[in-house]
Amino acid sequence: MKLLFEKSVAGRRCALLPKCDVEAVDLPKALLRENPPALPELSEVDLARHYTELNHRVHGVNCGFYPLGSCTMKYNPRIDEDMAALPGFAGIHPLAPKETVRGCMEVFDTARKYLCEITGMDDMTFQPAAGAHGEFTGVLLIKQYHKTRGDEKRTKIIVPDSAHGTNPATAAMCGYEVVNIPSAPDGCVDLEALKGVLGDDTAGLMLTNPNTVGIFDENILEITRLVHEAGGLCYYDGANLNAVMGIVRPGDMGFDCIHMNLHKTFATPHGGGGPGAGAVGCKAFLKQFLPASKLMQGGDRIQVRSFMGNFLVVVRALTYLLTLGREGIPEAAENAVLNANYLMQKIKGTFEPAFDRICMHEFVLDLSEYKKETGVSALDVAKALIDYGMHPPTMYFPMIVHEALMLEPTETESKETLDWAAEVFREVYARGKTDPAYLHDAPHHAQIGRPDEVRASRNPVLRYTKP
Ligand SMILES: *Cc1c(COP(=O)(O)O)cnc(C)c1O
Repeated sequence: MKLLFEKSVAGRRCALLPKCDVEAVDLPKALLRENPPALPELSEVDLARHYTELNHRVHGVNCGFYPLGSCTMKYNPRIDEDMAALPGFAGIHPLAPKETVRGCMEVFDTARKYLCEITGMDDMTFQPAAGAHGEFTGVLLIKQYHKTRGDEKRTKIIVPDSAHGTNPATAAMCGYEVVNIPSAPDGCVDLEALKGVLGDDTAGLMLTNPNTVGIFDENILEITRLVHEAGGLCYYDGANLNAVMGIVRPGDMGFDCIHMNLHKTFATPHGGGGPGAGAVGCKAFLKQFLPASKLMQGGDRIQVRSFMGNFLVVVRALTYLLTLGREGIPEAAENAVLNANYLMQKIKGTFEPAFDRICMHEFVLDLSEYKKETGVSALDVAKALIDYGMHPPTMYFPMIVHEALMLEPTETESKETLDWAAEVFREVYARGKTDPAYLHDAPHHAQIGRPDEVRASRNPVLRYTKP
C-alpha cells in the first residue's frame, strides 16, 4: 500500500477553508517558515479511500471478536460517540470563561458524583490521561500524605506478583522501593508473605483486583486491614472495574485510593495511544492532595496534565453511566463475568485454565503441557487464531503462568460469538496435535505474519524517507 506522500500530486486539494472573517495580520518574519511544509496533496476521495483501506487492514472491535485479556476491548455504544461529538462539548476551548462552560463543568461534577458512588470514594480527578498515569497520580497522593505527616521512613510499596505490570513501574517512578510478594497456589495474595514484608517502612500496597489471572481476592478485607495496621495506605488498580462495578465498592473493601480506566470500562474506544482517562478517586483525607489545574483552579497543588484532562472521555463515561443506569451497571458487570466463565468452561477440556475456579471478567490458559506434547507454543496458537478473524488473546502475561494465553471476552459479546470462539479454539487445538508445522507457520492468510517484534521495538522506523 502506498503512503499518502507517494500518492501526492502537486496542486490537489481536499479542504475548502472558510473565508477569513477577521482582519489579516502580517506575522513577524522570525515566525515564518522559509519553505512551505512538505505536506501530501490529495483530493478528498483519494484521502477517504486511503484511510478506508488502512481501516480494512486492522482488526478492531467493529470487525470481530477481540478477547485481548486485561484490555477490555468491548463494544462501545454509538450514543457515547454522538454525545462527545456535540459542538458544545467538542468545540470548547480550555481557556473559555467559566460562565460560558457551565454545562461542561456539570459533566465533570455529575460524572464525579456517580463514579465516587460506584467506587465508594469521596472525591475524584479526571486529569490523568491513562491508567498508568492515574496510578502515578494516586501513588503521589500516598507519598504526599506520608510526607505531610512527617512520616518519611516509609520508602516501600508492596506489589503482589499478580499485579498489572504498570503497578511496580509506577511505584518505582514515584521513587519507592518495590517489594514483590508471591501469590498463593489459589492465585490470591499470600497472606503470610504479606505479613512478612509489612513494617514501619511500608508506604502502601498496590493491588490489582480482580488480579491479572482474573481472580477476585477473597482475603481483600484482611489484606487492607493488615496494611492499615502497619500504617500503610491501600491503592486499588481498578482499570478493569467492569468485573465488579455496581456489585462491590473498593472504598468498602478498605482502599484509600483508586484509578479507573474510563477508556476500558466506561465506553471510550482505546488502542493506538488514546486519548484516555485514568480517573483517580480517593477518600476524604487524601482529597487535599488531588491535582488541580493551576491555571483554572489556582492553588499550589500538583498538576499531572494540562487543564482538566481529556474532557470528551468524561462525556462518554457520563453518557454510558446515564444510559445504563443503576440497574444496567451491575448487569454489565454480571455479563462480563458470565461471559468469561462460559467461555472458560467451553474451552476447558482442550486447553486448560491455569486456575480451575470461577473467574471474574477474564481467565488464563496454561499451554505448557500442550507445548510439551506437540511443540506448539502459545504464540503459535495466538497466530493461528488470526486466520479465523479473531484477535489473539494477550500472550505470555501474566508472567506467573507459563505459556499463558489470557482471554477477556467482555460483556458485549453474544452467546453465538462465544460458541464460535470456543469452536475455533477446539479446531486450533486439534490441528496442533496432528499438524504442528501448520501452526508454526501461522497465520497463513493475514497481511502480516510474524514481524520481528524485537527489531520493531528497538529500531522503530517512524519517519518516511524517500526510497
Ligand atoms: C490497562 C491496565 C492498566 C494501564 O492502563 P493504561 O491506560 O494502558 O495506562 C493498569 N492496570 C490494569 C489492571 C490494566 O488492565
